[in-house]
Amino acid sequence: MQVYILTLFPGMFSPVMNTSIVKRAQEQGLVRIRPVDIRGFAKDAHKTVDDYPYGGGPGMVMKPEPVFEAVDWVKQDLGRQPFVVLLTPQGQKLTAAVAKQLAEKPDVVLIAGHYEGFDERIRCLAHMEVSIGDYVLTGGELAAMVVLDASIRFIPGVLGDQDSALQDSFSDGLLEGPQYTRPAEYRRLKVPDILLTGRHEDIYRWRRKEAIRRTLRRRPELLRVARLTFEDRCLLEQVINEEKAGESCSEARGDIRGHY
Ligand code: SAM
Repeated sequence: MQVYILTLFPGMFSPVMNTSIVKRAQEQGLVRIRPVDIRGFAKDAHKTVDDYPYGGGPGMVMKPEPVFEAVDWVKQDLGRQPFVVLLTPQGQKLTAAVAKQLAEKPDVVLIAGHYEGFDERIRCLAHMEVSIGDYVLTGGELAAMVVLDASIRFIPGVLGDQDSALQDSFSDGLLEGPQYTRPAEYRRLKVPDILLTGRHEDIYRWRRKEAIRRTLRRRPELLRVARLTFEDRCLLEQVINEEKAGESCSEARGDIRGHY
């Protein structure tokens, strides 16, 4: 996968590109990330990339010409049409499904806006508009990093164990259940016995049940659209009954935050 990020602040991407999993993915040739400075495509001596809004109003608006020229340059560089994504709070919400869809594209361009936003004609360049949430950032750079990070996790080989992406929250429509590591007991807080038994089938079923329980408690609306198997539905029924009867495990009985 090749990702070109059109931005006014290419330097912002170095820490993300040179750290941890994203860095390793590039070293392994699984992803190629290229921040492209939009300012480099401004034609005038002052390298102007923004201007006052027609009709008046606050702030400055990103001019269309440098962004159009930057996309043209990417097309030439690639020799084909990339999939162009515009970062905007008005776009479709980033979900695991959107991230996975982008990870399947060979070439993606992410356009980060800045200032008060961009000239409306820039929308013509985009195949998709993506928002990372219902709030407004000062620029699209952080949003581009979030989209990039969420997407490349779905490229085979990027995560040490590809199963982890499949078990993560949202990948199958559920939240992930509780996770534990050593020690088995810390400050009288114990790891559930089942996880110490080595009985893989029972552990799998427990994890699945706790994922369903957690989803029911925190994001019940996800259960309406999650792809549940027959066994999942039986587990859900059990969880609902346990919740009603107040028999749930201590973790599920309430949020453990602040209980220590
Ligand atoms: N005036 C614009 C509006 O109300 O839609 C917001 C402009 S914002 C200050 C500047 C840039 O930050 C946007 O063009 C976009 O690229 C980026 N941005 C801000 N919030 C975002 C979000 N929630 N998701 C994705 N991009 C965002």
